[in-house]
Amino acid sequence: MEEKEEFEKAVERKEKELIDYLTELVRIPTFVPPGQNYEKIVDWLIPVFENFGFECEKVEMPEDVYEARQKSAELSGKRMNLLATKDFGAEESVDIYTHLDVVPAGEGWSTLPFEPVVKEGRIYGRGVADSKGSVASLLTALSVMRELNLESKYNLRIALTTDEEIGPYSGLCFFADAGLLQGDYLLCMDGDNEGICVATDGVLNWEMKVYGKSCHSSVPFLGVNAIEQAMRVIEELDVLKRKVGNRQSKSPCSSYMTETTGQKHITSVFNVTMINGGVKENVIPPSCTLRGDRRYIPEEAVEEVIKEFEDFLQQVKTKHGIDLELICKPGYPPMFSNPSSEWVRRVQDAASDVFGHKDITGVQGGLDVAYAVLQTKQPVCAFGVGNWIESNAHGADENVRIRDLKDYVRFLVGLLT
Ligand SMILES: [Zn+2]
Repeated sequence: MEEKEEFEKAVERKEKELIDYLTELVRIPTFVPPGQNYEKIVDWLIPVFENFGFECEKVEMPEDVYEARQKSAELSGKRMNLLATKDFGAEESVDIYTHLDVVPAGEGWSTLPFEPVVKEGRIYGRGVADSKGSVASLLTALSVMRELNLESKYNLRIALTTDEEIGPYSGLCFFADAGLLQGDYLLCMDGDNEGICVATDGVLNWEMKVYGKSCHSSVPFLGVNAIEQAMRVIEELDVLKRKVGNRQSKSPCSSYMTETTGQKHITSVFNVTMINGGVKENVIPPSCTLRGDRRYIPEEAVEEVIKEFEDFLQQVKTKHGIDLELICKPGYPPMFSNPSSEWVRRVQDAASDVFGHKDITGVQGGLDVAYAVLQTKQPVCAFGVGNWIESNAHGADENVRIRDLKDYVRFLVGLLT
């Protein structure tokens, strides 16, 4: 009982330290694109981890790998990542991962996005929830452990990587391919605290060019209007959208999702999200480009997803005599980790001790960790800081409750010691 009290006191005493860590992390603007300040944040973290007895390695994605798999015109700066390791002489080891990059600030903030502000029990700033809050909590957990002389029962490898928010080949993907993930287990701190996430949908982005024939708009019957053709395609795609949306995984979704939509499992998704076409008001448009994404449940294979889409479009082409071209760009694959594995159970127990019962869930968003575990075959689950709906991750006034950050410190110490 005394131990428990001491632990509680220590966590409370560290509140300022926790807020200071998070403030410093948010002040380094690692938004991507362009992702210019990755080396700065890694350089800031290294002495902090060294102070806790970790060995640190700066890992830059090699130029040839970057060129081939990740580089784009909107990115600039070194693709730097951090690997911090500490051998506790334990039998088992855990890799702990999250990302250091954030999405750009965007508009509509009531405070400065890169100058965190504490208000009514919450801290506001870009990345406080996704996902710098979990990094600050991890540092605080290490600080609590040192103060109370609590040894980790796992050897630790901390992978704090970059370019997750932009992909398709993030720092973590490179870590997986380079053999830098070696733990018996992997904890992904990128996520929310609603449930223990063991499944995600895979992501396939697509682009479609619909062709017409341009001519003077006063005699439209002499040409083919590509925008009207694209409209027919969009109408037909609604059939595919409904068919795909009814496809359920055996993995459950979060209870929040069930409450708001009635849906009990994660499903596949099909969206048209962008349209672009036309030259001038008086020109019948020669082409129209449609773009969107298809998210697929772990039970689907990306090859089948592409084939289903292509076959569907073939029918549309024949039915309406439409000329079109499809390009598919696969993103992060789906993730499915055994929900009854020993590791998932340990994470669930540690989380339930702090937060009350936590369900095993899946999400329809994609994670780069899915790519990593496809290579490493590590048992994995994702459990992060806060409620993402309230936190408005990726939106204006991103925030996280200080109580949630402290609870995450409690969770980490409970899991590791
Ligand atoms: Zn994230």
